[in-house]
Amino acid sequence: MSVIDEVLEANEIYSHTHELRRLTPRPARKLAILTCMDTRLSIRTLGLMTGDAHIIRNAGGIVTEDSLRSLLISHYLLDTEEIMVINHTDCGPRSPLAKPRNGKKLPDGPHGPRFQDPEGLSESR
Ligand SMILES: [Zn+2]
Repeated sequence: MSVIDEVLEANEIYSHTHELRRLTPRPARKLAILTCMDTRLSIRTLGLMTGDAHIIRNAGGIVTEDSLRSLLISHYLLDTEEIMVINHTDCGPRSPLAKPRNGKKLPDGPHGPRFQDPEGLSESR
């Protein structure tokens, strides 16, 4: 059984209660967060509950055209009033040591593997 099969099975079980149905798409705490996709970052690490905030994620937690679109929708259509941008230590995509594994190769182009670090923060450590 693949992980996707396991997730689908868990969702099937969840669908019987759908206990989060009471929540709205509007964050209860009127907060939007742009952060990294890192698995160690979660609402638990921020003291938040499901429904408290919009969390927009990408590799490196960087501001992109698409993340800006999400933040604008969050603010103008879904009433968020505060926006946080959260980065973290040991961020894989921001590390100069980040390399594809197992012979995999990332495509060239504007969405390539390297984080553009205009402030040189990842090199200061
Ligand atoms: Zn990261």
